[in-house]
Amino acid sequence: MRIRMKHIAVVCALAALVGCGGGEGTHRPAGVEAETAQFRIVLPDEPKPWEKTAAEELEHYLGLCLGGNSLTVEGRHGVTFHVGDTAFARDQGLPFESFKEEEWRIKSFGRNVVLSGGGTRGTLYAVYRFLEDGCGVRWWGDGDEDVPEPKPLAFGVLDRRGKPFFECRNIYRWRKADPRTAVRNRLNDNGNSPIPLSLGGAFTYGPPHLAHTWDWYVPFSKYGKEHPEWYSLWDGKRIGGDHQGQLCLTCPGLTDEFARRLEDYIAKGSADAAAKGFAAPRIYDISQNDGTMKFCKCPSCTAERAKCGHTGLMLKFVNATVDKAAKAHPDLLFSTLAYHLTEPVPSNGVVAAENVIVRLCNTTQNMATGILDPDNKFMHDQVIAWKDYTKHLYVWEYGIIYHKLKGYPFPSEFYIPEKYRFYAENGVRGFLIEHEDFEQSDMYELKFYLERKMLEDPFQESEGLIEDFMTRYYGAAGEMILEARKLLDRRRREKKAFIRWFPSMGEFSFFSNDDLAEVKRLFDEAAALVKGDRKREDRVARAYLSFGRLADFRAKFGGKHPPEKGVSDKPFFDIPTDDLSSENHEKSAIDFVKDIEIGDPLSGGDLVTRIKVTDTDKEGYYRLPFEIGVYDPIAKKTILKKRWEKPLGEGYCWYSAGRVKLPEQGFFAYFTRKWTVQVPACLPGMNGNEFEVKALVKFTGPMFFPGSKESNEIRIARLAYVEP
Ligand SMILES: [Zn+2]
Repeated sequence: MRIRMKHIAVVCALAALVGCGGGEGTHRPAGVEAETAQFRIVLPDEPKPWEKTAAEELEHYLGLCLGGNSLTVEGRHGVTFHVGDTAFARDQGLPFESFKEEEWRIKSFGRNVVLSGGGTRGTLYAVYRFLEDGCGVRWWGDGDEDVPEPKPLAFGVLDRRGKPFFECRNIYRWRKADPRTAVRNRLNDNGNSPIPLSLGGAFTYGPPHLAHTWDWYVPFSKYGKEHPEWYSLWDGKRIGGDHQGQLCLTCPGLTDEFARRLEDYIAKGSADAAAKGFAAPRIYDISQNDGTMKFCKCPSCTAERAKCGHTGLMLKFVNATVDKAAKAHPDLLFSTLAYHLTEPVPSNGVVAAENVIVRLCNTTQNMATGILDPDNKFMHDQVIAWKDYTKHLYVWEYGIIYHKLKGYPFPSEFYIPEKYRFYAENGVRGFLIEHEDFEQSDMYELKFYLERKMLEDPFQESEGLIEDFMTRYYGAAGEMILEARKLLDRRRREKKAFIRWFPSMGEFSFFSNDDLAEVKRLFDEAAALVKGDRKREDRVARAYLSFGRLADFRAKFGGKHPPEKGVSDKPFFDIPTDDLSSENHEKSAIDFVKDIEIGDPLSGGDLVTRIKVTDTDKEGYYRLPFEIGVYDPIAKKTILKKRWEKPLGEGYCWYSAGRVKLPEQGFFAYFTRKWTVQVPACLPGMNGNEFEVKALVKFTGPMFFPGSKESNEIRIARLAYVEP
C-alpha cells in the first residue's frame, strides 16, 4: 500500500492562512499530524498514471474545500480514500475488472471510501464527481474554477455509481485547450489537443486525420498518373484530390489498397501514441474528400448508385475496406461522414457495418432554437432516419456561430438540454461539438457547461441547470443576467428569427434598440450587485460582450441619416460596406483591399471596399455589365436586381438599383455578377419596409475605360437604403 501524506502539509498551510487551525498545525509532530489529519489517500501498490492524478486532484481540491475544517463520513473522523484498484476495494468486491469502461463508483464502508472505476478514466471520474457533487467544486473552463469557501464537510453513507451516456464526448474549444478541463468535466476527447495517459487518455481518432481522409489514403497528386482508375471519372477525365474530386468506389482492387493503408495507419497510430505516452487511438476515419460533389460517373459506379444511392455506394466501399482490415482489430471503430450528397440514408438494404460510425453534420440548423422546432425539421428527420442504418450514429454539432458575427447574441442555451436528450433518445452515440473562440463566443461558459452536462447525462433533470449555473457563476448578478437572456429568447421566438450557422447582420434585427437598452439596464444592475468581487465583475462584463457588440454596431450605423446633398433629399440608412457588415467571398479570385479613399469628396473619407480585378477572374464576372441586387436568404430569392452595361461616369457615382420591399428577416445587398461583396443590413426600421437601394461606386482601369492607365478596380464606398 502506498499512503499519501502530502495533503497534511497542504491542509496545515491553509489552516494557518485562513486562521482555522490556530497556528497549531504547522508545529505538530509528524506522527500526531497523521492521526489528526482529516483524510488519508491510499493508492494501489503500483498505481497507474491516471490513478496517481486522481489522488493528486482529490488531495488538492478536498484540501482547499476543508481548509483545516473537519471531515466525517458516516459520522466518523479519520477518513481514508481508497483511490483506484486498491486492495481494500478488491476486498470489498469492487475490483477493477468489475467495472465497465468509464464507469465510476463512490462507496463508503464506514470511514473508508472507495473511489474507483473502469478503463483509464473511471477512477478519475469518481474523484471528480465526488469533488463536484459532494464538495461543490466547479471547473468552468481553462483556469476558471470555483472552490467553495472552506468549511467542515460531513457525508452520510456514500453509495453512487454512474457512467457517461454518450460513448464519444468531444468539445473542440481551441487548439491548445487544457485537457484537464475536459477530463474534469468527463469529456473523453479534447478537440485536437490530446489527453495524456496521466489524465486517462482519450477516445480519439488515429492518423491520417479525423475527417475527409480519402485523399490522405491515396493522394491524387502522388498516384493520379500511375493509377488514374482509382479516382472519379468526371467529364471524361479522372479527377481526385481534396476539394477537387472523389474516388471510383467500384474500382477493382481499390478496397484492397485502402485496407493495406488502413493497416499501416493503425500500426502508426499505436506506435506514435506509445512513443508519446498516449492511449492508442480508438477510431480510424475513411471519409469522402471535402469541398466537391464530383463523384465518379463511370458505368459501374453509376449502375451501383442507381441501386443503392450515393450513400449506399459509399457505405459499401467503407464496409468492404473495414471488413478486410478490421478482423485483426475487433476493438477499433471506423468512421465515415454523411455529408452533402451522402446525407440521405442508403437504399436497397445497405447498412453500415457493425463497427462503422456514421457522422451527420448539423450545418443547416437555426442556431437560436431547438431540434424540436419546425425550423430544424431537416436535421431532426435525418437523425430519425439514420438510426436504423448504423449502430454508431455520431453527430457533428456546433455551439458557435461563425464569420465576423461569431460574437453576437443568440439564445441557444435554453435548447441545449432538449437537443441532446433528443439525440440520446434516437440512438446517437457520439459527438464532436465545435465550440471554439471562448473569448468571443456568446455566453460561452454557460453553453459549454450545458453541453458537457448533457453529454454526460442527457436524461438528467435539466430544469434547474441554467439557474444553478447563474447563481454559482455570477453570484448575486445571476438573476439579472438570466433575465436578459430570457428577453433575448422571448424576442427571438416572437419574431421567429432564424439565426444561421453563418449568419448575416440582418438576422439579429429581432432584437430592438429598446431591448438592448433594457439589457444594458439589467447588466448595470448586475454589475452593481457584484461590485468589489473582481472575478465576478469580469464574468458579468464578459456576459455582456455579445449584447455590447450589437449595441456598438447600432450606435455607429443604426440611426436614420438625415437628407444629404448628393445622396438624397429623403432620410436614409447609411450601411457600411466594410468591416462587420460585409461578407467577402471567393477571396482567391480577386484581391480585396479595404482602405481609406482620400481625395474624393463623395467617398467621405470612409473605408472603401476595393475589388482589384486580376487575371484570375477567368469567367469574367467582374467585367461589365456590373450588377447590384438584394437577396432574401430565408426565401432563397433574389428580390431586386439591376445591371449596368457601362459606368455612369468616371469617379464616384450613385447607382440606383430601384425600389424593393425588404423581407421581415435577414437580407443582403450584393455587388458584381459574382456576388463577391455581400452586405447584410441589420438595422431596426428596415425590415418589412420599402426602400430605394443605391450605392456609391467608382470604376477604374481599362476594363471599364478603354485606354485608361490605371489598374482595374471596382470601389464600393457607400450603400444607402433611402425612404421612398
Ligand atoms: Zn467509378
